[in-house]
Amino acid sequence: MSIYPFLCEKILMPAADIATRNKTMKCYDFYKQSQWWGRQDLKKYQDQRLLETIQIAYNEVPFYKELYDESGVDIRNITRTEDLTLLPIVSKDQLRNNYPDKCVRDSGHSWSEFCTSGSSGSPFAVRVDSNTMSQARALMLLRANYSGWEIGNPFLQTGMTLHRGIVKKVKDLLMRVEYVSAFNLSDRILDNYLQLIEDKRINYVMGYAGSLFCLAERAEQKGFNREMKGLVSWGDNLYKHYRTKIEKVFHCGVTDTYGCGEGIQIAAQCGMNDNAYHIFMPHVALEIVDDDGFPVKSGELGNVLLTRLDAGAMPLIRYKVGDIGRKSSAETCCCGRGLEMLTKIEGRDTDVVLTPNGNRLIVHFFTGIFEYYQSIDTFRIIQDKLGEITVQIVPRSNFNSEISERLIKEIKNKGDSDLQINLEFVEEIPLEKSNKRRFVVSKLAKGIETTL
Ligand SMILES: [Zn+2]
Repeated sequence: MSIYPFLCEKILMPAADIATRNKTMKCYDFYKQSQWWGRQDLKKYQDQRLLETIQIAYNEVPFYKELYDESGVDIRNITRTEDLTLLPIVSKDQLRNNYPDKCVRDSGHSWSEFCTSGSSGSPFAVRVDSNTMSQARALMLLRANYSGWEIGNPFLQTGMTLHRGIVKKVKDLLMRVEYVSAFNLSDRILDNYLQLIEDKRINYVMGYAGSLFCLAERAEQKGFNREMKGLVSWGDNLYKHYRTKIEKVFHCGVTDTYGCGEGIQIAAQCGMNDNAYHIFMPHVALEIVDDDGFPVKSGELGNVLLTRLDAGAMPLIRYKVGDIGRKSSAETCCCGRGLEMLTKIEGRDTDVVLTPNGNRLIVHFFTGIFEYYQSIDTFRIIQDKLGEITVQIVPRSNFNSEISERLIKEIKNKGDSDLQINLEFVEEIPLEKSNKRRFVVSKLAKGIETTL
């Protein structure tokens, strides 16, 4: 470890934690160590955390008490993660209907509310306390660590909001992150990002898979030939052709990761095996179940259920996040980590919308907007021709024409003022095969993408 990363990890970041009353680095140290524990020890730790989480949820959160009482569950029978199957599955709709009064608790920590459209495309609010945030941030550091990146190494990150408060700005400075927008991915902006990478001698790039792909495509067109050390992707699906292009252009591997906007970091690839995503077991218990809620065998495709092993301000227990995945049947990975593995996460399939002025709108462009529209149940974007999109909306009862206008205006302002937007109201948006939801569907010929 060279001097600055050492200083940053051991002194500056812990000092920042003290100043902001967070425990990110304490959690990071723990996750960094515990990932190497044997499977038995990890399981034992999970079971302890589960016991505590269920008890708190039952005793302090009316939603869980009512749910478990109604379904006749005696929570004393839940002592191991295998017992989770005795508990009912919790849907986004159930939580939404009971939020906030019945599904939150006072954890003794400060909290924030996050809106997410998550994987189901349905806006949804969750309350996350500072303790849970510390855990999630620590795991964001750990997932980046899997690419070879160390705290203190400069990196470029694409994100959805550039409004970084003073605390985040100080942390950005310490972490040497160049935080750039993924809202605008036109050629001119992508050229600026590539220039920034050159000028600041940046070796790592992190962000939404779609934005990394757009950056790689532009880098190839420009003949960018700087060798990078690692890229970390999240958010939308890292398609095989995305990975191939990014790895070829930047001459390094891509570490794909899996998390959700509900304050849970779930898994990351270790770099030894593209098909293995290590599940962050001390933080989350992950189940894969069939449509009737029964566990499927390792290696079989099913619905992802998450139990965050920390009650926090809003416990999430057997929470159906809306993704489809399969657990790996392999017991061990050649990297030596004891963490269980997922082979693949599906359900985040998406395309990129191209606008008349050359902007590229990735799925997070849309989810970043729609998550603040609580009057919209689900949405889908369809692009049939360049310059035009159809936004399919399943409205809730409080939707009105004023909201339609505001939505169109926001997409135009943030994306491209020349983009024609047609709203289409529908009763439901059918899932694609294997229960996948595709938020952004482009029917443009693939050739158009490269001619822009
Ligand atoms: Zn591994």
